[in-house]
Amino acid sequence: MARDSNHDILFEPVKIGPVTAKNRFYQVPHCTGMGYGLPNTVAAMRRIKAEGGWGVVNTEYCSIHPSADDAPYAFCTLWDEDDVACQALMTEGVHEFGALAGVELWHGGSHSPNRLTRMTPLSVSGESLHLTAPIQARAMDKSDSRDLRRWQVDAAKRAKRAGFDLVYVYAGHAYLPFQFLSHRHNQRSDEYGGSLENRARLLREMLEETKEAVGDTMAVAIRLAVDELMGDHGITADGEGREVVEMLAELPDLWDVNVSDVDQDSKSARFSDEGFQEPYTAFVKSLTSKPVVGVGRYTSPDRMAGLVRRGALDLIGAARPSIADQFLPRKVEEGRVQEIRECIGCNICRSGNNEGAPIRCTQNPTMGEEWRRGWHPEVITARGSDAHVLVIGGGPAGLECARAAGQRGYRVTLAEASTALGGRINREATLPGLATWTRVRDWRIGRLHDLANVEIYLDSLLGPDDVAELEADHVICATGANWRRDGVGTATHFGVAGLGDAHVLTPDDILIDGAEPTGQVVIYDDDHYFMAGALAERFAAAGHTVTYVTPAALASSWTEMTNEQHFIQARLIEAGVAIVANRSLAAATGDHVRLGCIFTGREIEQACDTLVLVTSRRSRDTLYQALAASGTKGLQRIGDCEVPGAIVHAVHAGHRAARELDAVIDPDMPFRRDRVTA
Ligand code: ADP
Ligand code: SF4
Repeated sequence: MARDSNHDILFEPVKIGPVTAKNRFYQVPHCTGMGYGLPNTVAAMRRIKAEGGWGVVNTEYCSIHPSADDAPYAFCTLWDEDDVACQALMTEGVHEFGALAGVELWHGGSHSPNRLTRMTPLSVSGESLHLTAPIQARAMDKSDSRDLRRWQVDAAKRAKRAGFDLVYVYAGHAYLPFQFLSHRHNQRSDEYGGSLENRARLLREMLEETKEAVGDTMAVAIRLAVDELMGDHGITADGEGREVVEMLAELPDLWDVNVSDVDQDSKSARFSDEGFQEPYTAFVKSLTSKPVVGVGRYTSPDRMAGLVRRGALDLIGAARPSIADQFLPRKVEEGRVQEIRECIGCNICRSGNNEGAPIRCTQNPTMGEEWRRGWHPEVITARGSDAHVLVIGGGPAGLECARAAGQRGYRVTLAEASTALGGRINREATLPGLATWTRVRDWRIGRLHDLANVEIYLDSLLGPDDVAELEADHVICATGANWRRDGVGTATHFGVAGLGDAHVLTPDDILIDGAEPTGQVVIYDDDHYFMAGALAERFAAAGHTVTYVTPAALASSWTEMTNEQHFIQARLIEAGVAIVANRSLAAATGDHVRLGCIFTGREIEQACDTLVLVTSRRSRDTLYQALAASGTKGLQRIGDCEVPGAIVHAVHAGHRAARELDAVIDPDMPFRRDRVTA
């Protein structure tokens, strides 16, 4: 299909200092949880973004010196010539497709606990580390700031040897150059402290010296957080953020601007809309003639083109949209906009880095699997036989499995018991702030409709006899899971006494059957992801009196990994939800629950008319077990039917099952390992 002429503006080249980006699609630096430890893995992932049409592809944060060490989180490094060789893997891959490769040189200052290198943590004025740790960050003296500038320049020169086209001076996300800027951190009385001009001195020097060292052939970008979203306590877009841009306006070759810190910058869809950063960053273009890039989880090409046309941005920055669809620019270019796999803003990608593990993505099951499993997001091996594949269940696992098997060319039958495809998504996306999750379902349904070899049957609850009649060669059960009503979860292993006398609801009762709580509502969260917090928010908004109880210290505690926890707890508090932490459910009676302190075991009573149990789930695997017992050939179970998990797990499992049909995979070592070998 021809490209929509409305989008032509996105394919204009943009000059960035001595280099030129072929279009306006700019993959801003983003963490991958891979870092220096997995160089082939990260290089393959970035290379595919270049193949997918991104005009500029950047690294994640790349340490300039061992005193900037973020272990156990994965960061990349440009400390020595071995690092140069590893980074060259990425630049070569990116250059293959005519994209520019950029590197985000980084020093964390008091954000760097240096657990790996055991170097002394550094900071602008001496302070506690950003993360709680029994060591502080010492104040930098003049020789330290000279060293810092030298490290930046030396790393920039290594970046040049590694083949990068663009190099950053990184003053975003509260890292060291930003700490110098910030009146909250900088209490110095020398020429690096006091007035804003003094606080910006280091940044200016780093920019000038980086340009002097490599600026003849490389673009020098600044990444600046122009607003910390904390009013007078921080830098603001109408205060010092603006003044810094005015001061340094023409010095860098490119302005990459955002809000700080990481939690704010990559807010999930539950707490921000597409384009949420524009009100803070839009002023920058009026103060500089240099190109400006900004982010805001942009997935709509109309909106992107509008931003450029309105003069808000020159380059459309994307981290998550480029993770969810590495081929987004190519799809726009080829007029295949409806095929864009839009980011849902769930922040599962962030959880990889936060857990010290490689990135994964709910929408894009191939993310992180490009090198070790050889998965390409657009290309898939043709079918290995003429087999007929039966997929039972049209939730995220079944939809992805049917779609990918269909893409391989298999004859696929997808049977779904209910009258709509989507499974859990149809329920979960009705919770406050989760509407974008429907994109997981809708993208797959769209692709399935393009596949003539996939037949879809709704309203088709299959039993063992139906399955036998269909005579499929592969039978894949993707029949999901149900929430438990016996209280068993992470903290409670044997169930809870008295539940038979209480008015108990599970998320299934509420979201499938439409049950409503009455009276005093107690939500017991022993699941720790989004469900209990989202239900509490919904019930509070509907006027219920809600008490949220959890054995964890925080509400929806695992959402710390998706950078949402802080916002969830704040929202629940504002909504009037009483949060009772560090207590497990000991027993229930008709109108009370007993809650035990997880440290002492001492119990308290809490009035409770409706007890909502969000604890754990049980696979809905009766059909699978019956088919296994009757020796059904080619049988497997995937997604929540195999093991209850998040949507990201279900989509990955569905994709993997389709990829591995008729493939020879060593079950004991199913992928390549990226590691140093002796
Ligand atoms: P997952 O996350 O693993 O995809 P879901 O619970 O979202 O799981 O989806 C499972 C889907 O399977 C649901 O839509 C459910 O209606 C459907 N299903 C369950 N049992 C059967 C069955 N026996 N025949 C057809 N569909 C079924
Ligand atoms: Fe978007 Fe979620 Fe994928 Fe991250 S994991 S890129 S937020 S869909």
